[in-house]
Amino acid sequence: MKILFLDQSGKPGGAELCLIDIAKPYREKALVGLFADGSFKTLLQQHSIPVEVLGTQAIKVSKDSSLFQALFSLGQLVPLIKKVIQRAQEYDLIYANTQKALVIGAIASFFARRPLVYHLHDILSKEHFSQTNLNVAITLANRFASLVIANSQASKTAFIQAGGKSGIVKVVYNGFTPQTYQIPETEIQKTRTELGLESKFIIGHFSRLAPWKGQHILISALTNCPPETTVILVGDALFGEQDYIQQLHQQVKELKLENRVKFLGFRSDIPQLMAACNLVAHTSIAPEPFGRVIVEAMLSGRPVVAAKAGGAVELVEQGINGFLVTPANPQELAQVITACIQEPEKTATIAKNAQINASLRFDVTTINQQIAQLLATIKSKLQ
Ligand code: UDP
Repeated sequence: MKILFLDQSGKPGGAELCLIDIAKPYREKALVGLFADGSFKTLLQQHSIPVEVLGTQAIKVSKDSSLFQALFSLGQLVPLIKKVIQRAQEYDLIYANTQKALVIGAIASFFARRPLVYHLHDILSKEHFSQTNLNVAITLANRFASLVIANSQASKTAFIQAGGKSGIVKVVYNGFTPQTYQIPETEIQKTRTELGLESKFIIGHFSRLAPWKGQHILISALTNCPPETTVILVGDALFGEQDYIQQLHQQVKELKLENRVKFLGFRSDIPQLMAACNLVAHTSIAPEPFGRVIVEAMLSGRPVVAAKAGGAVELVEQGINGFLVTPANPQELAQVITACIQEPEKTATIAKNAQINASLRFDVTTINQQIAQLLATIKSKLQ
């Protein structure tokens, strides 16, 4: 099947990393059309996935834009829309991987008469989006998408609650290659030495720096954790949240934690860094649509503590394969981290369970089969 994948982002967030795995099996006959240039394009090229930057003008609709702003922005996008319609005619199906890709993909689907699939990586609720954005996404998905692939039950439920048609939405989790997360002990020690944290209890936080990802909750929790605990914050502000970075640095300074918090910026060696951690913390204060980092921590054999909301609840079973804490509650987070340090054997058993279970549940081959089966149903409807 010839697929035109569309994604708005020039930088690789979770949705983009997931798209690499989805597009790979189709790469002989597929194209990934991006609406912005950047490091995501390079990453796709490294995986030999054909990619073209179809638009370079930034789409100015933000997550809380009004309808007027949205329409004004649409006017500026005519060249991009024309290009996508043109490309779509060479492919069997349009696969929109982000919300802005859904908008452009829906228009192209109409004019090029190609079916549209929307991969929903978001929780479509007012916590994350303006009412206008919600209305646009739901209306377009209902009207134009033959299939909506939700990345969790939580994303599916929010879609339906916001007015999305239940008949078109199916849940498929993100897939992973478990072997990628098996790092030799010598390499682990090397990374810990490079970080200058050989003797520390390293808590890793892997996420773009954004207020709703709750890095400030972890910093706050650190004041109630044993002195040997150190945090590494891995990630950068992908969508311009520079104020939040300043806020985090200020918080670290005020709490006198300069020696216990390291900002590593965006990194592409996540498996190596995760393996060097003693624990991985996920601290989102709004419901997480899926939470790739939670599964990655499990595959790395590291204990994971996650904020109990959204997709995280589908991934973690308290005390069985990880730990769940109330979102935005630093005291509770500190208690769980301290318990993990005090009960290393119990914690290691839980991490081992998680690793075995996640290797089966999220294997990329199985996940890609699920997607192929869903896409095949669209193809058969067309014939
Ligand atoms: N990630 C990365 N480099 C970083 C920080 C994060 O490659 O410096 C990856 C992380 O390993 C995960 C993804 O970005 O695969 C984030 O996905 P997640 O579902 O956790 O959050 P999202 O960005 O989709 O909200």
